[in-house]
Amino acid sequence: MKPSFILLFSTCAALAAVACGPDGRTLSSPDGRIVVTVDVAQGHAFYSVSRDGKPMLDDSPLGIATSAADFTGGVLLAGSSPVRPFARSFDLHAGKTSRVDYRANEREFTLENDRGQRCSVLFRVSDDGVAFAYRLPGEGTTQVLGETSGFALPRGATAFLSPMARAKSGWARTNPSYEDHYTHDMTPGTPSEYGAGWVLPALFRLDDDRWLLVSETGVGPEYTASHLAETAPGESTYRIEFAPADHNLPQDDVCPTVPLPFTTPWRSVALGSLETLFENTLAQALAEPRYPDRGVYRPGRATWSWLPLKDEATVFDVQKRFVEMAHRLGYEYCLVDALWDTQIGYDRMAELSDYARTLGVGLLLWYNSNGDWNDAPQSPRDRMNTPEARRQEMEWMQRHGIKGIKVDFFGGDKQAAMRLYDEILRDADRYGLYVNFHGTTLPRGWDVMYPNFATGEAVMGMEYVTFDQHNADLQPQHCTDLVFTRNVTAPMDFTPLMLNTRLAPDGRSGVERRTTAAFELALPVLFTSSVTHIGLTPENLATLPDEAIRYLALAPAAWDESRLLSGYPGRDAVVARRSGERWFVAGINGENRAKTLSFTLPAGAENRPAVLITDGPQPNSLQAARITASARTEIEVGAHGGFVLYGE
Ligand code: CA
Repeated sequence: MKPSFILLFSTCAALAAVACGPDGRTLSSPDGRIVVTVDVAQGHAFYSVSRDGKPMLDDSPLGIATSAADFTGGVLLAGSSPVRPFARSFDLHAGKTSRVDYRANEREFTLENDRGQRCSVLFRVSDDGVAFAYRLPGEGTTQVLGETSGFALPRGATAFLSPMARAKSGWARTNPSYEDHYTHDMTPGTPSEYGAGWVLPALFRLDDDRWLLVSETGVGPEYTASHLAETAPGESTYRIEFAPADHNLPQDDVCPTVPLPFTTPWRSVALGSLETLFENTLAQALAEPRYPDRGVYRPGRATWSWLPLKDEATVFDVQKRFVEMAHRLGYEYCLVDALWDTQIGYDRMAELSDYARTLGVGLLLWYNSNGDWNDAPQSPRDRMNTPEARRQEMEWMQRHGIKGIKVDFFGGDKQAAMRLYDEILRDADRYGLYVNFHGTTLPRGWDVMYPNFATGEAVMGMEYVTFDQHNADLQPQHCTDLVFTRNVTAPMDFTPLMLNTRLAPDGRSGVERRTTAAFELALPVLFTSSVTHIGLTPENLATLPDEAIRYLALAPAAWDESRLLSGYPGRDAVVARRSGERWFVAGINGENRAKTLSFTLPAGAENRPAVLITDGPQPNSLQAARITASARTEIEVGAHGGFVLYGE
């Protein structure tokens, strides 16, 4: 280190100490257990996090650079605000809970660079995590060149991560769409499969009681979506990285242009036990609604022929049967997938919508997002990418009582994509349409920002299990991973529950399902999605015991409360969710060996009459029993098996 630098550094440190006071650098959670420290060394800002005095994140980089000001080096800590309590409570339209009660302490730390320019980093610390965002002052606009924000894992941490796909890879150049598996207990610094980093959320384990879930939330059209960059071999700091140049179209900027003054999206770290991580609502609590909730969007369940029967079943007579199946189950929706415009046509679709309405079922229609950035041939195409076409289409949908859209194949995380998502959602809200994105990025707070955002894919969902035996083989373990990762932060359109044992139409592809019937039955409760699309056919329904039909009819798509009762990513998961007075408990075994799942029921679920559905003695069969479960419950499950327990 050069002597002049030491002098500069020590002078700045002394000034900062005066400006901030003796405690100008720390911030604690309301319960005092989590402590964040912000400081500057050698001109670089950083933060660290501890819980109960033990390190959760080591010194982790902070910094942002714009076309007008650089705060990634040469900065000093110019001051900090007083610590302020921050509280926010609101009803959540759908998800793991119906009420978000967020209590945190917040503090703003001001950084000043060597040109005298300033920005600040706003930290909020709640009892279940830490979040920060950069605040850029000024007026007009600026381009954000990048962030150095990172997460430095303490020694001994292991990682549960899903790789970011290479842009324009995959089927019909539709990647990236967050459709991959997760690593297990990976050593940080291991390269990812594609060399393109890792998607959010990212799960890290320090020990049995100390876990971190890193994500971001509040990403709207003003910014780009981010992911975790590839690390150097052996390095244990994961840094935020913007979508690269090859996402979306070449002419779309990598660096977002933001209006000033501007607060960036939040970088969030939920931390604590796996139970704490599972229940946390940081993604929702930190996001702000972008327009009012008109109260017309209804969470619900949907039948969907495409998953078991694929493109050729998108014809009038089959869709009519799936509408009738939705009616029989008391489901709110039926999703009609790709090619309906050519294989059914607009006029007969209007006729189907009229018929569905008489049965109390709303139709959801599939669209290709565009023809420019993917080669997917499925239509309707080019109806969602320009305002004129989109509004014309949506006006037709509104006229015929269509309730929502599923838009597929977005192919990137640049600001241009965030703008398109925002525009589709805003236009859809004008026409009362509920929106589901597929072939898409992680929804980052969108369930709060956009009242008509229903759900998003951004997961290697059940469709992949029908495509390939390798994915079918990994499904049991993958489903347990999603409980602790992807589904924690946002609604997830996994499209659960298939009972066919051969997973392509008529078993043609030869893909064999590895999960048991009770494992599959558990998934619609294990996973949350504001619209849950199931993969059952009317023929499957005829094989189910009455108790399973009743369970499907009763289990909603929006919950009042959710708890993790036991589990570990890759091994098993038992989840309890409450709707009104009724609890549903769903468990799956991700491993290929029989085991006993032991857990403690929530107080409201114990010693009540309940129905227990487990795997039956015949392959792919179910059996039901009436029980009164005690607080401490043990359930035997077979290899890749599962169970469902619900209050009478
Ligand atoms: Ca997909």
